[in-house]
Amino acid sequence: MRRQNLRLVLRHVSRNGKSSRAQLASATGLTKATVSSLVAELLDAYLLIELGPEPRGLTGRPGSALALNPDRYAGIGLEINVDYVAACVTDLKHRIRYHHVECADNRADAKIALDRLARLGSVAIRAAHEMELTPCGITLALPGIVDQVTGRLLRAPNLNWTDLPVVESLGDRLDVRPEEIHLDNEANLAALGELWFGGGEALGDFIHVSGEIGIGAGIVTRRALYRGARGFAGEIGHISIDPSGELCGCGGRGCLERFCGQEAMLRAAGLPPAAPATSTGDPGGPISGLLAALQRGEQQAIRAVRQGGEALGIGLAGVANVVDPDTIVLGGIFTPLASWLMEPFTAALLRQTVVTRWAPPRVAVSSLGPQAAVRGAAGSVVQRILADPSLFISGEEE
Ligand SMILES: [Zn+2]
Repeated sequence: MRRQNLRLVLRHVSRNGKSSRAQLASATGLTKATVSSLVAELLDAYLLIELGPEPRGLTGRPGSALALNPDRYAGIGLEINVDYVAACVTDLKHRIRYHHVECADNRADAKIALDRLARLGSVAIRAAHEMELTPCGITLALPGIVDQVTGRLLRAPNLNWTDLPVVESLGDRLDVRPEEIHLDNEANLAALGELWFGGGEALGDFIHVSGEIGIGAGIVTRRALYRGARGFAGEIGHISIDPSGELCGCGGRGCLERFCGQEAMLRAAGLPPAAPATSTGDPGGPISGLLAALQRGEQQAIRAVRQGGEALGIGLAGVANVVDPDTIVLGGIFTPLASWLMEPFTAALLRQTVVTRWAPPRVAVSSLGPQAAVRGAAGSVVQRILADPSLFISGEEE
């Protein structure tokens, strides 16, 4: 009971930014005495801080506002994608305190990719310690189907990796216990990143589309991710929009990502598909050539991206007809390509969506682009802290 109440209080402060004891009591239905004692424990555990007296209201004594303590605990997010690795550190208030991306082709060898990620991860952990933050866990984002219980990557078609014990391998390399490392699909984490660091609750129920070499989606309803019965929901990149089309890494034909994935659009634009293996910096690097061609007004590039946008609109219309979202958010590489892709995308989407005439879905462009997944990974560690603050309170049993 106490454990649940601690969570209730912490969650309320988290959602509201700040709150007084009196506001907490009226919002949670707990007595003021109970709230005061819970708050005292959360202050002792460095999860909350006291902001000082609020201006006097119309009635009663001025209350002291409480907020999440941003200077004690941190979540570490890590990501392996096909052509980059990334790491970030966030504090309890979802502020990004450290972020780094290294472009590299991870398809060649899983061991080398994990070594690369572990190097980046240990730098991020060190950065957290230097800011006097205590890392409270790691979440790893991967572009494939994962088993969260066993910590294994089952299949990542675009990396061509199959059945790898990634949690164990990363734990060994970072000298971190496997229980402290969680695993999730990058499209799921990108959607959560959008919820916590991007458009947030104003998006309503939304589908976040991650454009990379592969294409995935995360479906968020009532501020939570829809995972499906076995956790595999959102694999929209493998919706077939042409059953007689090109063979895909998944074994199907004419999959959506064969039309509007990064390599498909680069190829259609007449540009080399390979990612630069050495550059460090923005994961938009691999499409920088495409962006330059678009800015120069090259017709082949414009046509390639417009065709990709139309295919994406047809695929997403199918999803929207089933899910009925308030908003569709275009993320990953679709963020920088939005100026060229949005018009054919929206036209195809609205043409094929049944409810268009009465309630067309809103379309938004993510402000996070390819950074959404690693942020969502770090944010999911924060959510685990907020979900069970009793773990941080000494002497709290059960
Ligand atoms: Zn496929």
